[in-house]
Amino acid sequence: MQKCRQFETGSPQPWISRSFLLLKPFAAVAVLLAVAIAAAGQDIKTTEAYKRIRDVIDRTPAVDTHTHLNPFEMMPTDAMPDGSAVTLHSVIGRTYYTWTNPLSSWPDDRSFDTWWESARDDFENARATSFYRFLLPAWRDLYDVDFDTITDQQARELNQSIGKNYADDKWYQDVITAKANIELAFVDPYWGRLDLENAFPPYRFIVPLLNVTSLVRASHPSRTGEKDNPFEFAEKHGLPMDTLDDYLRVIDSIFQAAAERGCVCLKATHAYERTLSFERVPKARAAIAFGQPREKVTDAQQKDFEDFMFWHITELSAKHNLPFQIHTGQARIQGSNPMLLVDLIAANPKTKFILFHGGFPWVGESAVIAQRYRNVWLDSCWLPTLSYSMARRAYQEWLDAIPADRIMWGSDCVHPEGTYGATVLTRRSVAEALAEKVVRDELRIEHAEAIGRKIMRENALKLFPQLESRLWRKTGTE
Ligand SMILES: [Zn+2]
Repeated sequence: MQKCRQFETGSPQPWISRSFLLLKPFAAVAVLLAVAIAAAGQDIKTTEAYKRIRDVIDRTPAVDTHTHLNPFEMMPTDAMPDGSAVTLHSVIGRTYYTWTNPLSSWPDDRSFDTWWESARDDFENARATSFYRFLLPAWRDLYDVDFDTITDQQARELNQSIGKNYADDKWYQDVITAKANIELAFVDPYWGRLDLENAFPPYRFIVPLLNVTSLVRASHPSRTGEKDNPFEFAEKHGLPMDTLDDYLRVIDSIFQAAAERGCVCLKATHAYERTLSFERVPKARAAIAFGQPREKVTDAQQKDFEDFMFWHITELSAKHNLPFQIHTGQARIQGSNPMLLVDLIAANPKTKFILFHGGFPWVGESAVIAQRYRNVWLDSCWLPTLSYSMARRAYQEWLDAIPADRIMWGSDCVHPEGTYGATVLTRRSVAEALAEKVVRDELRIEHAEAIGRKIMRENALKLFPQLESRLWRKTGTE
């Protein structure tokens, strides 16, 4: 406790005492060196400052501004001897772990033991990666297993427990709301972006949003998928789709439908498909590609169409007061640097831009954009899962550079175990970043606690005022 009080008052470090000042210079240097080494070796998580901040952050019911939480019926399963079930393999297989690490495929004999025989060696080179480590809290806290040292018997039991938990959707709801302490979770339904009625899980903690990715590229039905096709939407609602102007009216209808459904923001994931450099293109040039089959349209003409549409939707974002979440960073890599959005941001001061994933790895670039433009927020969703160390560093640098009310977070997972793990990693990295600032006397502890609550919850409630009516916890904010 004494340490905490010292953080609060900002008084000099206790080890710099009067007697220290009386030491001979040589001895003083030696003592200072010893202190420095001890301090450098100390894990911030063992400090009182960290424990206090982490406690506040853990007790804060979080607003998770980005998930892909699948409906319960879509939980990943494997074929087991007596039917399909959620398994250890299907849970790990539907995380980012497999983006960089091997995972043995589910065997034809449907036996867990056969799978584990091969899979237990899959993790050797993954141990330090955040894609592996982000699931550790889920195994530890939800299943009482240390996955780093898991035995064959524990693995078998873990698999059985997972199967039992998914007998109905109680576990799903319980992990998100009680265990992960998430009050609201935004869902980006990649499995049915325009299926506004059916795509979202039917729980009070789910917040819908409108993913506009396909709207930007839909110059022709062949450019869209099955469940995100605006041409189908137009047909269903009896709207003409003969000209670009017709299409813009359809977009208006989609925005209206989204608002009626309670969508609170827009989301774009073009960084997986193309460059984020969206030029300002006149409507006549964009109209060339509209309604034309792929083979009749050049890449440059399609880009014109998409660029025009992206600017148009950016303007609609302001008009309908739906902040615009944009995927930046890790995706296609080429063309995903958030700096490519600066012209668009500068020209649309009324649109609220939310740069996703902190722009990983361009976290400094994201910071300077948010520092320069007041209509930019940084969302750290996915960042601690991409690189825990960079997330911790990013929180510190962002708090140096931009107001504390413009940083948010999101778990960015499809199932409860992943969501739980990502949430714990976020709470931990935010707490570490803040505690280090407190220990270095760069921030008072009560301000650090307040910032922790803002990042986990309050900033989202402020940016999305519609959320107020969706809050369902009756016991206040903690
Ligand atoms: Zn995502």
